[in-house]
Amino acid sequence: MPFLPALTREAALYEKLPGGRTRCLACAHRCLAAEGAAGICGVRFNSGGKLLAPWGYVSGAAPDPIEKKPFFHVLPGSRTLSFGMFGCNFRCDFCQNWQISSAEKAGGRLPETVSAEELAGAAAAAGARTVISTYNEPLITAEWGAAVFAGAKRRGLRTGFVSNGYATPEAASFLRPSLDLWKVDLKSFDDARYRKVCGARLSKVLDGIRLIRAAGFWLEVVTLLIPGFNDSDAEVGEMAAFLAGLSPEVPWHLTAFHPDRLMTATPPTPPETLQRARETALKAGLRYVYCGNIPGAAGQNTICPACGKCVIEREGFRLKKNLLSSGGACPCGAVLPGVWNQAT
Ligand code: SF4
Repeated sequence: MPFLPALTREAALYEKLPGGRTRCLACAHRCLAAEGAAGICGVRFNSGGKLLAPWGYVSGAAPDPIEKKPFFHVLPGSRTLSFGMFGCNFRCDFCQNWQISSAEKAGGRLPETVSAEELAGAAAAAGARTVISTYNEPLITAEWGAAVFAGAKRRGLRTGFVSNGYATPEAASFLRPSLDLWKVDLKSFDDARYRKVCGARLSKVLDGIRLIRAAGFWLEVVTLLIPGFNDSDAEVGEMAAFLAGLSPEVPWHLTAFHPDRLMTATPPTPPETLQRARETALKAGLRYVYCGNIPGAAGQNTICPACGKCVIEREGFRLKKNLLSSGGACPCGAVLPGVWNQAT
């Protein structure tokens, strides 16, 4: 049974195949679907030889500090409008948004119908400077995201994805005109665990991260450090080396796990684990490594790599100090990487 069949529109990211089948191009699963079948995400499905994709609703929308997404090198201290839909292309045991990301379990929640223009207008009216597709995986609803973002761009706002990074070149190219920012979750550096716990392949996530950076999106990476899952010194070192090889300027957020859903037996991440991982990442050459999800944790501030001055001071999602100019320059003159200006 297709999920929310009335709230769909023909997808842009797919190709028609002989025999009425379709191939979806929105994420790296590249699902083949026969007539009536849905892809792995459960929300894109073949109807009469056409691929239909979610359209015209949100599972929720709310204002947030941009630091909550987290983007630390984007318009510090500003407000964003977060929105999401239903479904996901991963099946992560430790998902903290499972009531939204699982299409089957989303049955109890009702979609709120809205037009792309209304949503973009609501963001501007709420004083947001960015609009971010989040809560569930935005790649699976890329066409709807692009429509909302186009409206946001017309209002001078920046736009972003909070994503698992399972991107395709086709999706990146489709989104490039309307999408500025891409936060990616790098969940592990072990392919067997990616397959077992998330139903995905590490190599495709790494390809997606490379692609996002190369295509010119502003990239920040987040890793939820889970005790016994991905927090060994060796695995943290591998993730850090990969990101540093991409660019020392990619911000990496290390966040603490709190027990949820199928991983209730796993303890929360100790603050010392976060700090040790941060030191490993800094030694690997990354310049901006942050710790989150633990109140008062060290590693929340932005330090100028040229002069060592604390240029952005944070407490949780709150900004306490910002010494950067509107172009991202430290008082010493060094310009830090990021998106510091409103869209033009
Ligand atoms: S978005 Fe990904 S999971 Fe969903 S149908 Fe397309 S390729 Fe499959």
